[in-house]
Amino acid sequence: MSIAENVKNILSNVDAARAASSYSNQVSVIAVTKYVGADLAREVLEAGISHIAENRTELFLEKYDALKDLTLSSNLTWHLIGSLQRRKVKDVINLVDYFHALDSVKLAQEINKRAEHVIKCFLEINISGEMSKHGFTTDEALENLTELSNLENVQIVGLMTMAPFEATDEECAEIFRKLKVLQMKISALNFPNVPCTELSMGMSRDYQVAIHEGATFVRIGHEFFRGIE
Ligand SMILES: *Cc1c(COP(=O)(O)O)cnc(C)c1O
Repeated sequence: MSIAENVKNILSNVDAARAASSYSNQVSVIAVTKYVGADLAREVLEAGISHIAENRTELFLEKYDALKDLTLSSNLTWHLIGSLQRRKVKDVINLVDYFHALDSVKLAQEINKRAEHVIKCFLEINISGEMSKHGFTTDEALENLTELSNLENVQIVGLMTMAPFEATDEECAEIFRKLKVLQMKISALNFPNVPCTELSMGMSRDYQVAIHEGATFVRIGHEFFRGIE
C-alpha cells in the first residue's frame, strides 16, 4: 500500500457512504497527521487532500511551518482538533481555520480576545456523558449559547464529538444520531454567530458510519498511513 492508494480508497469509501446516506452532504475529509512527520503529511496532501489537522499546539506549529509552501500554493485548510490550553491560544489561534475542540466558555472568551479574524469553531459535545471526556453536555451547550453568541470572533459552525474507543458500530451510530439532533436544534435557534450547520464526527474506524448519520467533516488519521513504515 502506498499513501496515494490509501487516499484513493478513503475517498472512494467516503463517496460510497455519502451515496448510501439520506443526507446528501458535502463531506470534507481531514487528514490527521499527528502520527507522522511533515514528509508523509505532504504526501497525503499531494495525493489530493486539502484539509490537514493536528491535535496539539506544538505539532500544529511544527507542521504549519514545514508545509508553508503548500499552504500558499494549494490553499490548505488548517484544523486544530485537540483540547487547547488557554495560555497557548495566543501562540496558535491566528493560524487556525477551524478549531474542533471548544469545550468551555472561558476558552471561547480567550479565543475571542486573541483572534484577529473570525475563528470557525466546533463545540465539542460529550454525548455519551463519559466522565473522562472533554466537552459540553447537551444541556451545558444549550445553556451557554447566549454567552457564546456574544463573542464576535468566535463563530460556532457546528458540533464535534468522539465515540468511546470501545463502541460498536451501532453504538457509534446512536451517538452520531444524537449529535445530529442537537445540531439541528441549535441551528434552528438562530443565535447570532451560531449557524451550527456542520458536524465533525467520524475517525478511521467509524467515518463511514458518521457520514451515514450526517457528518460534514471527518477526521481521519491512521487509515491514511496504513501499510506505511
Ligand atoms: C487522532 C485523532 C483523530 C484521528 O484518529 P484515527 O483513529 O487515527 O483516525 C480524530 N480526532 C481527534 C480529536 C484525534 O485526536
